[in-house]
Amino acid sequence: MRLATFSYINDPVLRLGVVRNDQLLDLPTLLGSHSREFPATMLELIERGPQVWRRMSELIEQCASGELPVHARVSPEQAVLHAPIPRPRKNVVCLGLNYVAHMEESAKARGREVKIPEAPVFFTKAPTAVAGPNDAIAWDQAVTSQVDFEAELGVIIGIGGKNISRQEALDHVFGYTVINDFSARDLQLGHYQWFKGKSLDGFCPIGPHVVTADEFGDPQTKKICLRVNGETKQSADTSQMIFTVAVIIEFLSRGMTLEPGDIISTGTPEGVGLGRTPPEYLNDGDLVETEVEGIGVLRNRIVAVQGTAVENRATAAER
Ligand code: MG
Repeated sequence: MRLATFSYINDPVLRLGVVRNDQLLDLPTLLGSHSREFPATMLELIERGPQVWRRMSELIEQCASGELPVHARVSPEQAVLHAPIPRPRKNVVCLGLNYVAHMEESAKARGREVKIPEAPVFFTKAPTAVAGPNDAIAWDQAVTSQVDFEAELGVIIGIGGKNISRQEALDHVFGYTVINDFSARDLQLGHYQWFKGKSLDGFCPIGPHVVTADEFGDPQTKKICLRVNGETKQSADTSQMIFTVAVIIEFLSRGMTLEPGDIISTGTPEGVGLGRTPPEYLNDGDLVETEVEGIGVLRNRIVAVQGTAVENRATAAER
């Protein structure tokens, strides 16, 4: 299945959609009376487990084989796509330095020794950083002057567990998505820890869809690329990861429970702004397109804003 979270332009309620032949279908409308068997959100659907996913998949096949039903079609003008899980329950777990060439460019840019990590480098992004696949990314110039991009393959856990072996790890995956691990490089360096520089509001666009594990196939054979204003900046293959998705899950779940709906961003390949000579950080109006083969494209425009922090504080004080 290729699933999406969307809302209609004039109705903020989040809905589940399924994409068939590039056409977004409203899932409850498509399934009719069967829709009562299923929850209304992606996170709840993931929590229901494999039996429910299989039942849904079978019903979608029944209802959407052949000509797609007109009444369930959602035109792109009618819909806003959201992150598949717009507000994850936990931080998004990320991998740093998971592609050799990116590790080399990062070490060079920071004047550090090149050393391939022996274990995955984990850090996280705050849930408030999550944004939709086509959302503008607000760049508060009072907060950072070095906004950078990182194209990544996202993994959504479907079946929780602890001490999961690499042999069984991929059976725990619900599906795959695209993530851009936007980064404020000056904050990343200035605070000695990546969390703050990686967690600014909007700095974690996810989507446009989730492709379930059965349909996506081997996660280590996909092209991953990123364009800024149409110019390719990153172009690589997930086969180049130092730690594969299965190995990442094995390490992460050692002594630490993974739960349905947990999101893992698997690291970025070379070509980020920091690694360029001179460094190329994003500017007001830049369009960043992040693509993973077999999933789709995030299209996020950088929009410079000022004083939003003050505005939000005032709003909170009024409550
Ligand atoms: Mg990253």
